[in-house]
Amino acid sequence: MTTGTSQGIEQRRVLRTEIPGPRSRELHARKVAAVASGVGTTLPAYVVRAGGGIVVDVDDNHLIDFGSGIAVTNVGNSAPRVVDAVRAQVEDFTHTCFMITPYEGYVAVAERLNQLTPGDFEKRTALFNSGAEAVENAVKIARHHTGRSAVVAFDHAYHGRTNLTMALTAKNMPYKQGFGPFAGEVYRVPMAYPYRWPSGSATCADEAFEAFTTTVRVQVGSDNVAAVIVEPIQGEGGFIVPAPGFLQRVADWCTAEGILLIADEIQTGFCRTGDWFASTHEGFVPDLITTAKGIAGGLPLAAVTGRAELMDSVHVGGLGGTYGGNPIACAAALAAIDTMQADDLCGTARRIESIMRPRLAALAAKYDQVGEVRGRGAMLAIEFAEPNSALASAVSAACHRTGLITLTAGTFGNVLRFLPPLVIGQDLLTEGLDILDAAFEEVL
Ligand SMILES: *Cc1c(COP(=O)(O)O)cnc(C)c1O
Repeated sequence: MTTGTSQGIEQRRVLRTEIPGPRSRELHARKVAAVASGVGTTLPAYVVRAGGGIVVDVDDNHLIDFGSGIAVTNVGNSAPRVVDAVRAQVEDFTHTCFMITPYEGYVAVAERLNQLTPGDFEKRTALFNSGAEAVENAVKIARHHTGRSAVVAFDHAYHGRTNLTMALTAKNMPYKQGFGPFAGEVYRVPMAYPYRWPSGSATCADEAFEAFTTTVRVQVGSDNVAAVIVEPIQGEGGFIVPAPGFLQRVADWCTAEGILLIADEIQTGFCRTGDWFASTHEGFVPDLITTAKGIAGGLPLAAVTGRAELMDSVHVGGLGGTYGGNPIACAAALAAIDTMQADDLCGTARRIESIMRPRLAALAAKYDQVGEVRGRGAMLAIEFAEPNSALASAVSAACHRTGLITLTAGTFGNVLRFLPPLVIGQDLLTEGLDILDAAFEEVL
């Protein structure tokens, strides 16, 4: 883990003004006048530089980053290998459209993903621009291959903001309110969410599995279902780790019923949970896997990777898009993956957990309002017992004022989630946790 400086940025918190400072407030006034208000900002400190675990704003405040731009900058901002690769690629060529005149970078990213994703079988990959677009395409492939139309998603799921992915996403506000009608043939089943399971965590996996199979058999009809889509650890839903064994049973049952299982690893992928992909921890092998966020060190890229016979069942020209697998994004992805391998960032995510989890557990022990600490690797969360956003919002706001970037999540908005860049230094991680302690002290 990095200490000292990273990309020339000193790795410690520096507060020169209140947060946001005067220059940020000026820019924010321009934002309000120019940018659609539907595009919100969590912490309107306007950024000029970032690296390691620090984000520097226009007022020269150094903020500690526990968000990674929502699990994107796993290798850090402007990671050296990514910068070099992007610079070289941008000088060679920026776009040809892979569907017109192809290039090696796209093929190399596909090869790497086929190798790194779970499953000991032949795979193929197709590249896209965003997570939502990858999910859309995974569903297209599953429908085309099976000749079935229904898709089953879980309570608390988040799969994106396009029309089909809004339908797959569970939470109404802010993602769906007023944006319907949504895509059809989407069905929802309970998630095995141990902390809030009505009869308790011990019965959660069995009862959730029973509810899942009953709904699919009775309400939808197994023969009509193309795919079940699931996040192996739910992201926006509040870092819900499914009850042990649940996903493996779902996977086995899907196989028996001829239903494809899509793992949405857009937030959990690329060393975030201490392994390349979280499906591995949960003990199942998906047929199709969607990736994005952490894939390319901050450049927009997404992928669907899956069994060769499924992926290749689509007619030529059936998949694609103008920008999908852009050469600069591909160069960045290859460099980001090299970085994760060379610097063992999966090991680093586990080390981050070993430092953070005891500190979060100490908060849970001290404050009755904390319901649960959970997650895996460098994807950890605190859920407040009260199912409303008051405490999470207040603690998060206190963190922001004191220079720590934190995010909230959860169906009830009552989860504080922590996603530090995997290259954050140990001192900075500890300093961030001290700020969190102080925020709890202030608010609770
Ligand atoms: C962020 C996210 C998406 C959507 O990705 P975008 O790039 O924002 O379209 C889909 N699924 C999961 C699990 C996510 O976390």
